[in-house]
Amino acid sequence: MKKLKKIIILPSALFLLLLVFIIPKHLNASGEKSTNDATITESTADPGNATAADNATTAGYTTASDYTTASDTTSTDDTTTAGSNLSVHFLDVGQGDSTLIQCGDATMLIDTADDTMGTAIQNYLTKRGIDQLDYLILTHPDADHIGAAPVIITKFAIDNVFMSDFQKDNRTYQKLRDALDYRQITPVTPSVGSVYPLGDAEIIILAPNKTYDDPNNASIALAINHGDNTFLFTGDAGEEAEDDMMANGYELSADVYHAGHHGSRTSSSRAFLERVAPASTVISCAEGNSYGHPHAEPLNNFRSMGIAVYRTDEQGTIVATSDRQLITWNTAPSDSWIAGEPQGSSPSSITPPDDTPVPLVVEGVSYVLNVSSMKFHRADCDYLPTANRQDSTEDRESILQAGYTPCQRCDP
Ligand SMILES: [Zn+2]
Ligand SMILES: [Zn+2]
Repeated sequence: MKKLKKIIILPSALFLLLLVFIIPKHLNASGEKSTNDATITESTADPGNATAADNATTAGYTTASDYTTASDTTSTDDTTTAGSNLSVHFLDVGQGDSTLIQCGDATMLIDTADDTMGTAIQNYLTKRGIDQLDYLILTHPDADHIGAAPVIITKFAIDNVFMSDFQKDNRTYQKLRDALDYRQITPVTPSVGSVYPLGDAEIIILAPNKTYDDPNNASIALAINHGDNTFLFTGDAGEEAEDDMMANGYELSADVYHAGHHGSRTSSSRAFLERVAPASTVISCAEGNSYGHPHAEPLNNFRSMGIAVYRTDEQGTIVATSDRQLITWNTAPSDSWIAGEPQGSSPSSITPPDDTPVPLVVEGVSYVLNVSSMKFHRADCDYLPTANRQDSTEDRESILQAGYTPCQRCDP
């Protein structure tokens, strides 16, 4: 009897899934030319997507991956689309976050780094032939995440802007609001459990699960599923927000985890890491940043759990590509295991947020070396190390011969 029931339920469930997920996806694609306003309303008010995942806490996610399998089998029937690769570009934007995701023609940018990075991000996108974004996600309103958003919003046509509901009363936030107004874009705070298409990948919103006093905890968190592969982004969410994500019962396991809060000890709690159980993690931070990111505690956890670590401060822009089964990287993992904390200083001495390191130019010095990461900089680089710094009067050749690699930003 039980078997019989399953035989009937399974095909009809698959059919319903087709209705719920695949059909709205096609509608979206054909409605692409509509105005920003219209598209935003369409995807938020998309009842199919939202309800399917909302209805059942854990089941929501299971349904979502079933959908992936369903579309998998349709696309492997070949003829038209054989499924596109998904590429995730963790941009080297100094102390901040900005990640570009491309899946076929679909594009998404998560965060925009600080206001010095607008042109750099714009150029990166333009070089890749991107003039339009399907999604811009601003995880939370800190300057190292939204600073360059006005540039991106002004230069690119954007279908959907997702923002945390946390509001700030400062110039950076006001400039973002002005840019949105100028473009007549109404940002949306997506509800937890909603599912959005990104090419043949899907985005599942996992946070914020409530209102918080701290902007970091109010970060939008999301998983991107692409075939067998999952990427997890939690913005700067701290332990409290991580606990709330775990309590909500959604599947959190991921192959690639974008380390929360630039590898700060306030995120990536051991319990959360055990739930996510990633094979790899990517840390976005600047070399010699004043916060001491990444901190030793999460680094030690990554190491003891056998998680491969990639770091933009050491390796520049990091690109992970999923072909639905395997993930390939543009570089080998970092094996430095060097924390950014200045030795012997207490955490309380760390400079408060929104403070950018002041570059130091010393007379007669040709290059500045970082003796731990083995990178070298021009003396006027904006990203000079504060720890492990050594000023050099040697010429470029000798420094290269000593095994140093040039900083990607100042290109010495
Ligand atoms: Zn941040
Ligand atoms: Zn933050």
